[in-house]
Amino acid sequence: MHCPKCGSADTKVLDSRPLDAENAIRRKRECNACGQRFKTVERVEYTQIQVLKKDGTRELFSREKLIKGLLRACDKTPVSLSDLEELVADIEATLAANMEYEVESTQIGEMVMERLRKLNDIAYVRFASVYRQFKDISTFMAELNKLLENP
Ligand SMILES: [Zn+2]
Repeated sequence: MHCPKCGSADTKVLDSRPLDAENAIRRKRECNACGQRFKTVERVEYTQIQVLKKDGTRELFSREKLIKGLLRACDKTPVSLSDLEELVADIEATLAANMEYEVESTQIGEMVMERLRKLNDIAYVRFASVYRQFKDISTFMAELNKLLENP
């Protein structure tokens, strides 16, 4: 969010109020560079990414589900929840930027692995070794959760 007066991106939120009936938030902001105050209406965007599974069915991309599964794969590694939130947000942003609203589950899996590899070796190897047996992120997540619930 850039200041309308000086163009600085360094602004702070003074007040936030949801606008009912619209998925929007009205904010009062102040520019940290020049002190200009301004109001914004920020709209929540639902990207609604559909994941095409190996069996041909589709399900809605779930950030929560993916983070939950990844948290388990990253158990006892230095990878934090905020690392994973960032990782998943990056995947969503990449898909949205490419206007990809329907992706194959295998593509999500590859995107996860690519990012996990940069983050932590142990988490990557653990994820990859289990994931490769399934080649399908939805099945993988279901299996991973089962494995971890009944060790
Ligand atoms: Zn300014």
